[in-house]
Formats: sequence, structure tokens, C-alpha cells
Amino acid sequence: MAAARTLVLAGYGMVGHRFLEAMVGRGQLGPDGPWRAVVVGEEPYAAYDRVSLSSYVDGLGADDLSLVGPGFHDTPGLVVHLDDRVDAVDTAARRVTTAQGRVVGYDALVLATGSVPFVPAIPGTDTPGVFVYRTIDDLEAIRMWAAGCRSGVVVGGGLLGLEAANALRILGVQATVVEFAPRLMPVQLDEGAAAVLQDRIEALGITVHTGCAASGVRAEGGQVVGLDVDGRDEPIQADLVVFAAGIRPRDDLARSAGLDVGERGGVVVDDGCATSAPDVYAIGECALHRGRVYGLVAPGYQMADVLAGRLSGRDDVAFTGADTSTKLKLLGVDVASVGDAHGTRTEGSRALVYTDPLAGDYRKVVVSNDGSRRVVGGILVGDLSAYPLLVQYARGTLETPERIDALIAPASPGADAATGAGVAALPPGAVVCSCNTVDAGTIRAAIQDGADDVGGIKAGTRAGTTCGSCLPLLADLLDDEHRKAGVAVRRTLCEHFDHTRQELFDIVRVKRIRSFAALLAEHGRGRGCEICKPAVASMFASTASGYILDGEQSTLQDTNDHFLANLQRDGTYSVVPRVPGGEITPDGLIVLGQVAQEFDLYTKITGAQRVDLFGARVDQLPAIWTRLVDAGFESGHAYGKALRTVKSCVGTTWCRYGVQDAVGLAIRLELRYRGLRAPHKIKSAVSGCARECAEAQGKDVGVIATERGWNLHVAGNGGMTPQHAVLLATDLDTETLVRHIDAFLMYYIRTADRLERTASWFNKLEGGIDHLRAVVVDDSLGLVDELVADMERHVAGYECEWKATLADPERLARFRVFVNADEPDPSLVYVRERGQRRPAFPHERP
Ligand SMILES: Cc1cc2nc3c(=O)[nH]c(=O)nc-3n(C[C@H](O)[C@H](O)[C@H](O)COP(=O)(O)OP(=O)(O)OC[C@H]3O[C@@H](n4cnc5c(N)ncnc54)[C@H](O)[C@@H]3O)c2cc1C
Ligand code: SF4
Repeated sequence: MAAARTLVLAGYGMVGHRFLEAMVGRGQLGPDGPWRAVVVGEEPYAAYDRVSLSSYVDGLGADDLSLVGPGFHDTPGLVVHLDDRVDAVDTAARRVTTAQGRVVGYDALVLATGSVPFVPAIPGTDTPGVFVYRTIDDLEAIRMWAAGCRSGVVVGGGLLGLEAANALRILGVQATVVEFAPRLMPVQLDEGAAAVLQDRIEALGITVHTGCAASGVRAEGGQVVGLDVDGRDEPIQADLVVFAAGIRPRDDLARSAGLDVGERGGVVVDDGCATSAPDVYAIGECALHRGRVYGLVAPGYQMADVLAGRLSGRDDVAFTGADTSTKLKLLGVDVASVGDAHGTRTEGSRALVYTDPLAGDYRKVVVSNDGSRRVVGGILVGDLSAYPLLVQYARGTLETPERIDALIAPASPGADAATGAGVAALPPGAVVCSCNTVDAGTIRAAIQDGADDVGGIKAGTRAGTTCGSCLPLLADLLDDEHRKAGVAVRRTLCEHFDHTRQELFDIVRVKRIRSFAALLAEHGRGRGCEICKPAVASMFASTASGYILDGEQSTLQDTNDHFLANLQRDGTYSVVPRVPGGEITPDGLIVLGQVAQEFDLYTKITGAQRVDLFGARVDQLPAIWTRLVDAGFESGHAYGKALRTVKSCVGTTWCRYGVQDAVGLAIRLELRYRGLRAPHKIKSAVSGCARECAEAQGKDVGVIATERGWNLHVAGNGGMTPQHAVLLATDLDTETLVRHIDAFLMYYIRTADRLERTASWFNKLEGGIDHLRAVVVDDSLGLVDELVADMERHVAGYECEWKATLADPERLARFRVFVNADEPDPSLVYVRERGQRRPAFPHERP
């Protein structure tokens, strides 16, 4: 047998690893394979998931991000050198030399060297406190530096820049984004979509400046203090600066070896990924194919597969270009750009646009203006439910439906029919997962062969294992195949758990599991995701009354919960102490006034009978709460998915119509259910007579006094989709009322989906009010004792989160006192209005 030929892989990133896997998969490496591979990777880590890099600051370690499966490096014929770099290529002698002095001869050389972040040539970029955003080590350096920082600027408002801004936010740093283009994500989004995205991002407390260029980094005492921006007199003050303004293909090695490179960079390759030098190939972000460098992982993976095919003797496989449709989650906002999103590649194209700025929703479909009226692309922000079909229409794998507008119109009866046959009509050849080039036929075959959940499809086909944007389509295909086979469809929480929310809730409760890691290890798989993490956090919070931010729980929580306060539009927080039943003593009112005066907080009585104090900086929260806790106030949970208030009218206490003690009951209910974590916020009210001054019928739990006792109404909703509460039981004595409310709330908490308010949960309840009454009032399932006992446990375990925080220095450290904490943040600009300060609007800023 001929001796194995040597393959050298320069660069061990995502695409390099994919190439190795493809070689192993084709039997090219391994005991009998014709190749041995020597891998040289510059980073100290083997290939890791760079797409999920931002999770590193959110608690994931380098091992969690690793792409290398157990035992992979033991593959015979595979040698891996990390922390070394290929420094020179001698194409004549067919060998490479590394930084550590290794000299390795090759029969084939594969360059998979990726990209470098682009840093504009402006003064001061080498100042300590200036970073780029590309590797685990970059993020580790940012994390270390951020520990003493209050504010940071990110240069670049594209995908990477917004990821970086989010990372700063997670690290507790107030972020400002500076973008050269007149809008965010200029490559993917149009003006309307970018405006919606910007609104949503600013609502999170991130400041955005578009249409301005960074012109220099300001330094004092040898470290960053701000960024100069063209057109602004004053620098933007910042303790750190992150450049995330784009990438440049890493072609230095190829250049010095005399290979052809593009005018604007990139190693020139043909459809077989071959460069201008014999037996030298390039794949991934360093490659320039037909004049194009791809900054996405899917095209790189396709190149890796093609090259592995070529090196195994297949001349018929070729890389002919890739679709750049992308779906991303940026700062919690879903964003997608599909095909010819700007309509610039389709002459005469027209766009259909639906936008709802209040809901933060933007949908656009670009349609050709020829006789065929084909869908050629689109943009979505907010609601991405149309994404899977939009991609298929734009690729031409699904025929454009009759009613194109139905694709972007808000959901309405008949919309499904109008968008066509949906997933059922996907032809077998339609590529569903573009990262891994898996078509609908392969996925259907895997399901027919026994893959009975999304995890099984992923394991069997690799679909959905990279960027994850096709996961909803996999779930739809699964449902479709199951339906066709007459199998009942199970609604499991997500791909990481084979259980429904209800089942997981029972597992958590019965087994008293208190950590996400333990739940995942015993009952799930993988690392968790945006769906299961908050859902499980809410289960923990609902099943035991432990401190909400203890241990890993803190990383599972929503933003507001991180600081036990509500983030406002200028990045400061509001403080809402509990005022049970709206009853407050004059002394209590005086303390609130004094605190507001001392910290110059804007003060407003809320619609729910509380006092909201606005404009507190994170580092001020502990001092404010010390004053409030000392005066007997406790957290009002305005930030939590929890009971907010029990509003009340004055009832028999003062009102001449009152028939029951509305205030007394409201206080009792509010104290009983305070801190109760739920799938969504819960509001409640008690009215002292049928005149209903407390508006109890617009609440999740509404109580109205009668001559004989209390009427209980449930599942009402104010807000965006108001819904009247339904009458559950009448003329109850107080003890029975409380028992019914206990059972109702616990039944809701245990069976609703995450972020589902009682009204939407109730609307989906089979059997409606009759079923609910049977369970809660008539105890038809024999559950009530258990539900009430659950509630008793909650009541017994309640502790004010702010009191607990102040009593524990470790917990308090989360609200660390920043460097220069006493100096006002110059990015916060206020105007005085009606005797108080409020944040300036953009037109009022200097
Ligand atoms: C924060 C972030 C978020 C992203 N999000 C997305 C996303 O949502 N969707 C998407 O499709 N893409 C995303 N990307 C882009 C995606 O990560 C890249 O497309 C992908 O990593 C490219 O793979 P690659 O192997 O070509 O390069 P890399 O993964 O960068 O690997 C190249 C490796 O080669 C090493 N190297 C370079 N030169 C040498 C040398 N001379 N010798 C030895 N080693 C060398 C480098 O150090 C690096 O480790 C994101 C990137 C970042 C940074
Ligand atoms: S609801 Fe009845 S008791 Fe309460 S304030 Fe109004 S009129 Fe008075």
C-alpha cells in the first residue's frame, strides 16, 4: 500500500475543522485513509464555535464552545499543533515553516486562516483599553478590562458591532455604538428595518450614533478615556473602545508566498477551492471566490465539503457561490435578511412592506416586476415566522404564492392558506439548512428512518447544527411527517429537552433540582438556548423562593432581573418599592420623597398605585435601597415576571358604597403573592363594590365585593391586547377565595408557556372556563391541595430580594461601585420639566 500523502492545514477555525471532519467522513483520514494531516492552529484552542462567541461573556467557557468531538484528535493520521502559526510557505519546495520552528513538507496545503478584524487607521488604536472582537482571547481581555469600567464605545454598527455592544451590556458596561453608515447593519437592512432595530436597541439602554466616523482614540494616563468622532465637538467618553467595524481576509501568508490575491484582499480560488499555486487550496473567510469574500460560516462549510470531495478524487463537486440569507438574534431582537434584500440585483423590483414601529416589527418582501412576480428577497425584524418560507421562495425552491402580502401581513384567519401550502410543498431538493447543505428530502428520510425529534434530525443529518436558523423549519418538517404518519405531535420545550414545559416543571419540583446545569445533565442535552434558559429560570423561581440571582440563576434571568430594577431608555434604572394595596403612611411617603430628593430621581405615581423613582444609576441602587429597606419598604418586583400589584379601591374603609374591606383584602393578597415568579407578570385588583373603581376585570386576578362576599374573575388583560376577565366563582368567603386564587395561580404557573399571560393561556385552554372551574373550584383532578401546598411553600419562603442583596457583600458586588462613580456620565443628558429632570430627547441633546 502506498504511503499516506501529507496534508497541511494552516488555521484551525470553524471551516478548517469542518474540512477535517469531511475528510474523516469520506475515509480520507484514519487508519486506511490515503492522507495524513498536520494541523497548525495559531490560537491556543482547537476549533470553536465563533458564531456563538458572545456567549463567552455570558458564562460559557472555551470547552463549551469547542467544536471538537470526544476522541476526534485521536483519529489515526491526524496531528494537531496548537499555539503555533504557519509563518512561511515555500511552494517550490512544498513545505511550510511555523513560528515555533517546525518545518513540514506537504503534498497538499489548505489555507483556512479566516479573517482579521478591520481597524481603521486613526490615532490611538494601540492604547491600552482598545480591543477587537474575534477570538476567545479577545473576549477574555475585554472581560478583564471591563471589570473597572462604566462606559464603552463600539465602533461598527453591523452584526459584529451589535454583538460586541451586547457583550458590553452583559458585562455591566454602558455601551455606545458608532456606525459610519447612515443606519445600523447597512449590508443586511434597509432604512425602515434599521430604524425599527435601532429603536429596540436604544430601548435597552444602548446609545447609537449613525452616520459618523471614528477619528481617534482619546487617551489619558496611558489608557482610553474616549473616542473622537467626526462632526462632534466633544469626544464620546468611554473607558474602553471595541473595534468591530468589519473584517479583512487573512491573506498575509498567501501574499508572501506569491499566490494570487484580490485587489481588496482574499486568496483567489476557483470552483474547486484551488489557488494559483499547485496543490495549495484556500477555504473559508480567507478565500476570494468569483470576486467575493464570504463573511459567513455557511459558504465556508460548503467550500470545506467541496475541497474534501476534490481531494478524494471527485472532480464533479464544485463551489459555485452561496446564498447569503442570514437570520440572527441581536440583543434579543430577531433580524433576518434574505436573498436580494435591497432589490438591487433584480432590475425593476418592487417591495411590499409592513411595519409596526410600536411593536418593533418590520417585514419586507422584494418581488420581481416582470410577469412572474417572483419573491427575490426580503427583510424581517421582530417577527421572523415568515423567514423559512421566504428563504425557500427567494431561492426558487418553492413557487411564489398567489397572495404575497399574506407572507408579511399580521397573522389573521386564512393567512396560512394564502401563503400557500407551506412546508408540505417543499420539494425534496430544497436546501433547508444552508450551513450544512441539507435538503428537505434528506430530512424527511431521516424522520422516516426514526428521528423523532429535532435533536434526532440534527444528529442524523447535521441540519441545524451551526447557526440554528433552520430549526423552526426542521420542527415544521417533523410535524408534517408525523401528521402524515398519523403520529401525535408532542410539543417539547426545545431541542435541549425532550419534555414539555409542564413535564419539566414537575421534574424540577419533584426532584428539587435547583441548577440549570443539573437539569441539563440529568434530563437534557447540549448547552441550552434562548428558549429553555429563561423558561427554566422561571420554573426555579416559581418552585422555590430562593434568591433569584444566586449562582448560575443570574445568567438565566432577563435583563431587568440582573439588577433587580427596570432599565429605562437612557440606561438608568427605576426603583419601585412595594406599596401593598396602595396604602401608605405619611412617614412612608416622606421617605420616598426624601430619597427622590437626595438622588434627584424623577418621581411618578404609577397607574397601579405605587411610586416610581426614575433615573438611578446601577451603582446608586444599593444606597437607594438601603434607605428604603430601613424605612420598611421592600422590592415591588416591577422588574420581574412576578406578581406586580394588587390595586384596590378604598372599599368600606371610606367609601359610602363599599360593601367589603377592599383595602384589607388587597393587602392580604399582595403580601401572600409577592415575589411569586410566573411565566409572565401578574396583575390583580380588588374593588369594594360592583362600581368597580379598581378595574378588577382587566386583571389576571380580579376580585369584586358583593353583599355576600367576593366574586372572583380571572385571566383579564390590559396592555396591547385587552381582554375582559371571566367570572370563575361568586359570593365566596375570604378563605375560599384565597384558596381558589392559590389554585388558579399555581395551575397557570405550572401549565402556561414562557411569556404567556393568563389571558393567552386561558384562550388556549381546552374546555375554557368550564374546565378551569372544574379544576380550580370543583377540584375535578384532585390537584387543589397540592397546588395550595405549593403556594404555602412560596409564602413561607418569601424574602425581599433587595433586603437579601443588601445583607450579602457577594451579592452586592454585582452592583459594583464603578471607577469615577460619583462623576455624572457625560452621555446622560437631562432636561428639567415641571420641576423634575428627565432624559433629553435626541433633538434636545447638545
Ligand atoms: C462574534 C462573531 C459572531 C459571528 N456570527 C456569525 C453568524 O451569526 N453567522 C455566520 O454565518 N457567521 C458569523 N460569524 C463569522 C464566522 O465566525 C466565520 O465566518 C467563520 O468563523 C469563518 O471560519 P474560518 O475557519 O474561515 O475562520 P476562523 O474561524 O476565523 O478560523 C481561522 C483560524 O486560523 C487561525 N490562523 C490564521 N492565520 C494562521 C496561520 N498563519 N497559521 C495558523 N493559524 C492561523 C486563526 O487564528 C483562526 O483560529 C461571526 C464571527 C464573529 C467573530
Ligand atoms: S368600587 Fe365601590 S367601594 Fe370601591 S370606591 Fe368604587 S364605589 Fe366605592
